[in-house]
Formats: sequence, C-alpha cells, structure tokens
Amino acid sequence: MSSKLVDNFAPRSRFEIMIAISWVMWFLVGYHQHVDAISKHPIVCVLAFDGLRPDYVFRGQTPTLERLSREGVHTQFLKNVFPTKTFVNFFSMATGMYANKHGVLGNTVFNENGQCIGYGYELFHYNPAITPIWTLNELSGEGRHSGVMMWVGQEYEYGNVIPTFSQANNRSMPWNDRIDTTMTWLTHKETPINLLYMYFEVPDSDGDKYGVKSDDVPKQLKRVDLTIEYFLKQLTKHNLREKVNLIILSDQGMKDIDYNEVTDLKNILAPGSYTLCGEYPVLQLQLTQGFEVEAYTNLTKARDQLKTFEMYKKNEIPKKWYYTGNNRVTDLLLVAKLPYTFNDKTVQLRADNGYDNAKLDMHAFFIAIGPLFREKYSVKQLRIIDLYALVAYIMQMDASKLVVKPDASLARIVMILKSNVLEKVQNYNTRTILKYFVALPRKSIGKRQSFVYS
Ligand SMILES: [Zn+2]
Repeated sequence: MSSKLVDNFAPRSRFEIMIAISWVMWFLVGYHQHVDAISKHPIVCVLAFDGLRPDYVFRGQTPTLERLSREGVHTQFLKNVFPTKTFVNFFSMATGMYANKHGVLGNTVFNENGQCIGYGYELFHYNPAITPIWTLNELSGEGRHSGVMMWVGQEYEYGNVIPTFSQANNRSMPWNDRIDTTMTWLTHKETPINLLYMYFEVPDSDGDKYGVKSDDVPKQLKRVDLTIEYFLKQLTKHNLREKVNLIILSDQGMKDIDYNEVTDLKNILAPGSYTLCGEYPVLQLQLTQGFEVEAYTNLTKARDQLKTFEMYKKNEIPKKWYYTGNNRVTDLLLVAKLPYTFNDKTVQLRADNGYDNAKLDMHAFFIAIGPLFREKYSVKQLRIIDLYALVAYIMQMDASKLVVKPDASLARIVMILKSNVLEKVQNYNTRTILKYFVALPRKSIGKRQSFVYS
C-alpha cells in the first residue's frame, strides 16, 4: 500500500477525528437502543406515593398529576382497608386481600405466641400460601417478569419465588436513580418486565410530622410531581410511553390530630396489666391474666367519659373491617375517633392515619392512564384490594396457581378498562381469572362487563 493511499484514509485534522468518533458513538448508542427489549405482554407500572391525599393533587403544586387525572381514569376516592395503615394497605394491594386474610393487621402485630412483631418475614407470612401479584406474574410464565422497587413485603420469597428484579428499601437512594433502575428492568435484553410495583415514601413522612396544612407538604408535592414527570420522560426515551399502562396511587390519606386531647393509656391502666402492639390510632391489647376484669372496667369508664376512642372485644369488631377470624387478633382492639389519638405526648406527630376506613379523610388517591385504560373517565370510588384482580386480568395471569382465593373483585374495577382493547388480550387464562375474581352475582356485574364472558 502506497503512502499516498494511506494518507487518503488518514484523518486530516482534529475536527475530522471528532466527527469520526461522533459517528461511532451515534452508531453505538443507536444500536444499543435498538437491542433494548420490551415485554410482549401488556405492561403495567404502579407508582405508589405514601400518604398522598386525593385533595393534595388539587393544591396547584402538581400540574402533571392534575393533567394525567384529567386525561385518564380518575377516582374521587380509593377506599382502603382497615386499619388504614401503611403496611396493611400496601400488602392488600399486593395480595388483593383484606387484613384478616393476609394477617398484616397493623404495622406491628402480635404473633401466634403473643409476641409483638414488626416489619420482617414473619409479619408477611401469616399464611404461607399467599401469592403477591408479582409472584403470580412470575408463576404465569411465558416471558412474564416482575420488577418490585421498595414495596412493602417485597424482599421475601412467597412460595419460594422472588421477582426477577427487585430493590429492597433504601431511603437514601435518589428517586431519579430508582427510576433509572426500573428502566433497565423494563428494557432488559433477556428478561424485560411486564409488571412494575414501585414505592415512594413521601408525602406521608412529612404530612404526619408537620400536619396536612403545613408549608412542607407543598414542597413534597412538587417533588412527587417532578418525579412523575421524570418517569414519563424516561418512558418516552425508551419508546415505552405508548405501551405502558400507568397507575399512580397511594395507600391512605392523612388527617390532623387534636394534640390537646390525646388519650394516654398509662393514666387508665395499671402497669403490668396489659401488653400493647400496633401503632396509634389503632392499638391491640393483650390483657394480663388476673387483670382482665379490672382493665376492661377501667377502659370502659375512660371510653364513656372521654369519648375519644372505641373499644372492641374480639367478637365485637365490626365485620365490615374484615379484621376478625385471624388468630393474630387479641383480647381488645382500641380505635381512636377522629381527630383524637392515643399518645404519650412524646411523639411529635401532627397528623396521622389508621382510622376507620369509612372516613373520607383516610381514603387514598388513584389515577390510571395508558392504552388499556378509558380516557377522561371518572368514577366515584374504587377499592384498593381490587387492584390485584385488575392487574391479573390485564396480564392474563394464570389464576389457577393461586392457593388462597383473594378478596379482590374484577367486577368492581373492570369498568375503567377500554372493552375493545381488552378483547385482544384475552387468552385461555381469562375463564380462570373470572372464576377467581368475579365473585359477585352476574346481575351486579352490569352490562359493561358482559364482554368478558364472550
Ligand atoms: Zn402510608
């Protein structure tokens, strides 16, 4: 090869080298994007913000959330389960069950041996046959993969199955990094996920410290909104925006407490006459042998005098709470009435949740937007437990893998889906799903759902 020919192919300047490098970079980036895989199944991403009250979204701090709620499905209230506490409700979303069936009766509960247990394997394995939605997705096979980011109870196996991708709770992980991680799951070359459950710890952690009307809440709401905006941008960047069915929700609302009227059990009960589990405003009480009558009498007097709480023996707990029939339930259940709470005045909470799930202030937030959801559709109320049935149906999961039947009903939530799009996703699992999740009588299912039987 002559030196002249070599010269012809040699870069003549630094500028040309830069151009050449740019072309190589462009090719590599383009090629990389090209090999990003996307699940062949419908994709559902659930983003949960702890303690996001439905009315927080209309305070002018969350333009993205407001826009999404106008464009997609919006519900005035998402009815949660009793007690309206964080672990209880996140696990109800994951399992489609009320507290009495999944056994997480509070953020802490008495186990069968009378020990008060907190977050851990035992709390979430009251019933070893429980199948969280991310587990059912994995069990359904055919390329279905789950990604779970910091969701309550996610770090444990259920039936010896763990999600394909997961990130355990790590509050110090920046929110945008969490989102970037989920994008690598959604576009993984070999095992792209079709299901994402993702948790964010705000605004609850600030709402309860400073109160519902505090100046700190708007700051946190702005942060929530920017995070959703970032998530949407990343979906667009990875060509996922049109494919993803996005659900944004919360576990409960929040209500300011009357801090001057807190009920201190130490003023009512003798030391050693009881042991306590649960968190304000819902307390589980185990009475010490020999002190049962005295303790019950004192509590009855205090209840009638103070009028700040209700008290229930095991057999008196309202059935509408789906709390009884579980051997973690103890002698007495104390439930504060809004806006009161139990407290020893050392805890610096200004607002709280956990109260009766019939109270509107406790209800949660829900919107849904994406190719399978109806547009500009508003429904007065949905239920947290029914999310399980909805997602199982969208994904056409294999419900025959379930050992315990969830409480979730498809009939109560299916109306938020576009019927014409859904006909395309039905397969041989449809009838099994209906068997498990359409527990209501046929006539109450209504016309709009009749297509699922065709
Ligand atoms: Zn919460």
